[in-house]
Amino acid sequence: MIPLIDLKKNYLGIKDEVLSQINKIFDDCKFIMGENVEKFEKNFADYIGTKYAVAVNSGTAALQLSLLGLGIKNGDEVITVPNSFFATAEAISNVGATPVFCDVNDNTHNINVNKIEDKITKKTKAILPVHLYGHPSDMDSIKEIAKNHNLLVIEDACQAHGAEYKNKKTGAFGDTGCFSFYPSKNLGAFGEGGIITTDNEELFNKLKLLRAHGENPKGTHNISGYNFRLDEIQGAILNIKLKYLDRYNNSRRKNAVLYKNLLTDVPNIESPYEDPFVKHVYHLFVIKTDFRDELSRFLNNKGIGTGIHYPNLIHLQPAYKELGYKLGDFPVSEKISKQILSLPMFPELTEEQIHIVVDKIKEFRL
Ligand SMILES: *Cc1c(COP(=O)(O)O)cnc(C)c1O
Repeated sequence: MIPLIDLKKNYLGIKDEVLSQINKIFDDCKFIMGENVEKFEKNFADYIGTKYAVAVNSGTAALQLSLLGLGIKNGDEVITVPNSFFATAEAISNVGATPVFCDVNDNTHNINVNKIEDKITKKTKAILPVHLYGHPSDMDSIKEIAKNHNLLVIEDACQAHGAEYKNKKTGAFGDTGCFSFYPSKNLGAFGEGGIITTDNEELFNKLKLLRAHGENPKGTHNISGYNFRLDEIQGAILNIKLKYLDRYNNSRRKNAVLYKNLLTDVPNIESPYEDPFVKHVYHLFVIKTDFRDELSRFLNNKGIGTGIHYPNLIHLQPAYKELGYKLGDFPVSEKISKQILSLPMFPELTEEQIHIVVDKIKEFRL
């Protein structure tokens, strides 16, 4: 059995550190908004290279608070991609704005910057690129377009902790960067979690208000906000795991190199692309094949976990029926969605396991 992801193996590598931190929190009974979360916000901002970070309780909350904090509201339009996790668009519609989808590149699976300007209208307020699977979007072009049209940029970096575009980390380009700490992410909590990175001090203060009932000082509610707080246990665990994030990502990258080498001559299997000027962090290792469903079933029968990220594009989801999109609107995204298959990928994946996965793929071809 080789799972798509093995969280247990990761836990065993840090078990003693985690349990001692959790014990300490239990002894102190300080569970919410304490020193662990505060320390983590500083550490994470330092790691990404932004001035500030505001921890929240999910990646979805990070996206939603970013949009609210930047003043995006009813009647506004935000340009994003159809081939992401649903939450990317959901955050936009939940603040009352309209997600406007833009097709992606066949190689990076990220937003096609040549098609963004066609989508800009008088109502457009922001571009929300997703660094899908851990491969950064083309941030130079996105920033240039945003500057020319006076648009905000919100990065969905929920799959790209530690990824780099021209030696700068994702999450440090936009007006905000949004991260998820869902357990399976490159930096995963032991529960729900998320964070917003920004260089904007005024926005930082507004995000802190929005996160916790608009309260400051205690007893005074300046604006109507939310309860989107991260808890201390997650803060402590994330502080521990952040120390190892580069090591984890380097292991993922090493695994990706081995996969790619072994898959080079396998017919009808396309390995994931990596731009020469980026550091892809392989949240997922996604191959493309015209025999996706058959191969997936074959591998699952041989005890190898696979996934499809994502089988149904957002513009065709029942929730967005009223937006009026139809099959054929985004030919590249639609083609890719039928070919993609995620193979086992996690830091602790062994060379031997990768050999087994590729041997099974070759067996399928025979
Ligand atoms: C995981 C993810 C989210 C949502 O994060 P949650 O922590 O699950 O709310 C948003 N966008 C992308 C691209 C993601 O992968």
